[in-house]
Amino acid sequence: MANHIKCPNCGIYNVNKDYCIQCNTLLSYEKRRDIEFAKAEKERRKRERIQKETSPSFYDKYKDHHLLGVRILAKAFRSFWIGFIAIGVLIAWIIAAIAA
Ligand SMILES: [Zn+2]
Repeated sequence: MANHIKCPNCGIYNVNKDYCIQCNTLLSYEKRRDIEFAKAEKERRKRERIQKETSPSFYDKYKDHHLLGVRILAKAFRSFWIGFIAIGVLIAWIIAAIAA
């Protein structure tokens, strides 16, 4: 099936072409959508990276610190925090087990 698309730029009709034969404007709606989507995805990743750089987590900020003491402290703090969560989950489980 022939696919006639009028070029939005120069107005000539193209048949089964993704790009205008005269001015090379992208005609395919699907391709344009893909490009838009890729662009949005790239923007999103960029924003995410910037946010990570401006507000890194405590552990990410100090785990590669040049002072050994700070690195150890960061790891100790993280271990403590993970342990704290594990105990919290355990307590929640015990309470749930008793209640049931
Ligand atoms: Zn054109």
